[in-house]
Amino acid sequence: MTKTLKRKTQRRLVLIGGALLFIALSIVTQYLSRIGFTMFNGVIMALQFAICLGMIQVHNKPGIIITSILLLASSGQLVGNLVIRHNTTVLPGLANHLVYLLTLLILARQNRQKEKMILTDSLTGVSNRRGLFSIMKHLAEDSKPFHIVYLTLENYKMINENFGHEFADKVIQQITDGMSAILKSKGHVTRLSGAIFVLVIESKYDVLELTDSILAFIREKKSVSSGINVKECQLSTHAGIASYPDDTPQIERLIRCADMAMRYATAQQKNSAYVYDKDVLALETRQEEIENLIHLALTDDLFYMVYQPQFKAQGKKLRGFESLIRLRTADGQNVSPGEFIPVAEKNDLVKLIDDYVLHRVLKETKDWAQKHPSLTISINISSGNVSEADFVEKVKKALEETGFPASSLEIEITEYSMVKSVDTTIQNIALLKELGIQIALDDFGTGYTSLSYLSKMPVNLLKIDKSLVDDIASSKKDHDFFNAVVSMGHLMGCEVISEGVETEEQLALIKHLDCDFVQGYIWGRPLSFEDAEAVIQANM
Ligand code: C2E
Ligand code: CA
Ligand code: CA
Repeated sequence: MTKTLKRKTQRRLVLIGGALLFIALSIVTQYLSRIGFTMFNGVIMALQFAICLGMIQVHNKPGIIITSILLLASSGQLVGNLVIRHNTTVLPGLANHLVYLLTLLILARQNRQKEKMILTDSLTGVSNRRGLFSIMKHLAEDSKPFHIVYLTLENYKMINENFGHEFADKVIQQITDGMSAILKSKGHVTRLSGAIFVLVIESKYDVLELTDSILAFIREKKSVSSGINVKECQLSTHAGIASYPDDTPQIERLIRCADMAMRYATAQQKNSAYVYDKDVLALETRQEEIENLIHLALTDDLFYMVYQPQFKAQGKKLRGFESLIRLRTADGQNVSPGEFIPVAEKNDLVKLIDDYVLHRVLKETKDWAQKHPSLTISINISSGNVSEADFVEKVKKALEETGFPASSLEIEITEYSMVKSVDTTIQNIALLKELGIQIALDDFGTGYTSLSYLSKMPVNLLKIDKSLVDDIASSKKDHDFFNAVVSMGHLMGCEVISEGVETEEQLALIKHLDCDFVQGYIWGRPLSFEDAEAVIQANM
């Protein structure tokens, strides 16, 4: 028997037991009254009241129905005594019964309101996380199969930062209303947290059709009105579906299944909702494997660093190195950072990795930096960490502990650092620059860095992403775009580096288009510490 069914049976047993006890006590009272022994009537009535209270607490709605019937029935008996036998001694008992009934009705109503408040999201009026669990539990108790749809408004944080909290709240409210209007009575919209929604739809309805309508509604919504203002905003979203009890009979796990299916839909850029299947399960299993591997790598020292050289485009003078992390398992397998960094970024593991990298790189390359002050050593810091309040202190401490000169350090951040908190990120960047550290904006051109963001982020170096470099020799559009990005970077007072340069044609164009630096396989792959040292000796 499942847990929910067990609980349902338990509650039923309490209600039946309570009702029987109540009736038994009524019979005892009657018997005692008949033999003229009435001194315990008040105590017994108080006991009955306590039973009623207990039943309401255990199961509010059926509890109040049963207790009302019981109290009315025993009141009816007293009324009968009064009317037929003209027995006026029952009057106090009758009054007591009515007061009890009234009190219980008020209590039950308050209980219901409290329960509703606890289960409702105050911003949108739909069910919150607890409400969601309550809906799912009820369906499970009634043995009704259902689907859940997990969906997130992906650029919600960006909207929050760009347009403010009030506007972001309006977005959430209008999206919730729209989804509720599409679902009507076919399902429930619930808000799990922030911009994460879970829809609960009974299996008898077409979940795919309903979800597609909702996805289309969100993606096509172009403007949001807040009071007198109407603002343009484009929302992006993906959805994952999991089914009870087919995918799992455990409700907690069901949410994780739908969440994983949504992540799969996002990674694969699926327009429709993705239904939990064995591919998602495989992805989930792999992610868990990688999480364990990261823990193991931190304790068993399985991480190490490689260094990819960066050169001046004109004249090929060595600028410095970008440090890149590597993971080799005990049995010699290499796991790419492209795989484990995104997993680590989903939880706090990435903080541990960034701390490791910071200390390891500064310690390992201190001698290079001290001997060659013009050399720049870059480290990658995950977006979430740059906006942490203690980030600058951590860097300062690492510099002090290792004796690495701040002016030789470059920190690579991405525009996503701004998403968590624009203010703290900008403040941290300013503090790092005061220490003499250089800031590079990584993966430039891949996301939605707007000019307004760029002007707020005082970086020294723009790193043009490989995807923008790949086709500059074959596509005029890409060539012109690359040209524009370099010019814009220079206009903003930044230097510009091209990443992922692989061919002679690309290199020739990059030089021609006045890009300052080059990093790519054509002039140097990521190297071991010893090989990087050899490059320094050959070039400095
Ligand atoms: P990224 O920071 O954009 O790093 C550049 C990636 O491009 C590196 O992959 C590098 O090996 C690769 N690359 C460089 N030149 C070429 C080229 O000419 N052709 C090709 N095909 N690839 C080239 P890698 O080392 O696998 O790193 C992947 C991503 O993992 C990095 O992208 C970065 O986001 C993350 N990462 C790597 N190391 C660290 C680290 O120490 N800390 C953090 N937080 N993230 C890291
Ligand atoms: Ca990088
Ligand atoms: Ca990059």
